[in-house]
Amino acid sequence: MLTDSPPRKANRAGVLESDRIRTLDLPQDGGLLAIAQSVESAMKAGTTADVRRACFDFLEAASQFYKVPDCGIRVLAARPLRVREHWTSELFGDYSPETMMIRVWMRTAVRKEITSFGTFLSTLCHEFSHHLDYQKFGFHDSWHTRGFHERTAALYHHARGTPPKRLFWVHVAGGRWRIDWPRTNRGA
Ligand SMILES: [Zn+2]
Repeated sequence: MLTDSPPRKANRAGVLESDRIRTLDLPQDGGLLAIAQSVESAMKAGTTADVRRACFDFLEAASQFYKVPDCGIRVLAARPLRVREHWTSELFGDYSPETMMIRVWMRTAVRKEITSFGTFLSTLCHEFSHHLDYQKFGFHDSWHTRGFHERTAALYHHARGTPPKRLFWVHVAGGRWRIDWPRTNRGA
């Protein structure tokens, strides 16, 4: 995971705030964990419509918890050929702040291999974090800051039922940050 390049001056305050917010409130019940498990079963044995329904339930429960408007969800079999402009795009999903629509896809573009459940859920949490940036935190853009990645990781580990890791970061060229995985995995 890598952060974006340093912001233009106009965005600096928002980016710094996004970078600084490293934690995210999490539900106290196991609701998201249970729904995430239904996403996993749907990926293994269900149709795309089953996966979509489970993702919809996941996002609806999360939106209710964070008191933000619901976002739309489309689950595609494969990565669209054209990824829209102005959408924040990742390898397995994207988010449009204008329509509050998340799209995720289940197969990689090149080898057409099915995305693993872990990667899929992580993408869903990542795109939902973009939604939170606009709707909960009120940022006028959604940057990939260290805070953004840490908030996403908190939600992901909660939904997956895995212990959160403290993330360690190292500076890379161009003023960006990347996760120091050896140190993060050692936990010190
Ligand atoms: Zn993103």
